[in-house]
Amino acid sequence: MKVVFLDIDGVLVNGRQITPSFDHEAVKRLYHLVTSHEAKVVLSSDWRHTWAPERLSKEIHYQTGVEIRIDDATPTKVKDEETGLYLADIRGAEIQAWLDDNEVSAYVILDDMEPSNFLQHQLGKHVWTNFHTGFTQEKLQEADGVLCG
Ligand SMILES: [Mg+2]
Repeated sequence: MKVVFLDIDGVLVNGRQITPSFDHEAVKRLYHLVTSHEAKVVLSSDWRHTWAPERLSKEIHYQTGVEIRIDDATPTKVKDEETGLYLADIRGAEIQAWLDDNEVSAYVILDDMEPSNFLQHQLGKHVWTNFHTGFTQEKLQEADGVLCG
């Protein structure tokens, strides 16, 4: 199974907007990526605190007419195995916790956060988008290359 870990702001929603609205072109590019690799979409964005995957899928469909099935979300409370302490919002650790529980053949992380938010071994999987331009054609090609890996 291939997986796309999806951030929302800076990927599908670009720039600062009072009411978030999805960039139709970015959503279409994600659709293309997901369908061509038969990949699952796992929400890793902070949006998962307020949006259930299914509801967010419906909202994206409502706004753009594109059906993206968001299958799951990364866990929010991740413990450090050695210390037993909760890791505070380290996105890479949350992604890793999901990966540890699932059988994955390839994955890509779409996120505008700096690489320092991810684990060392995940850096080659991180497609670093720009907050203002989001998931561009160039980033789609990069993501495609990561999933072909
Ligand atoms: Mg973001």
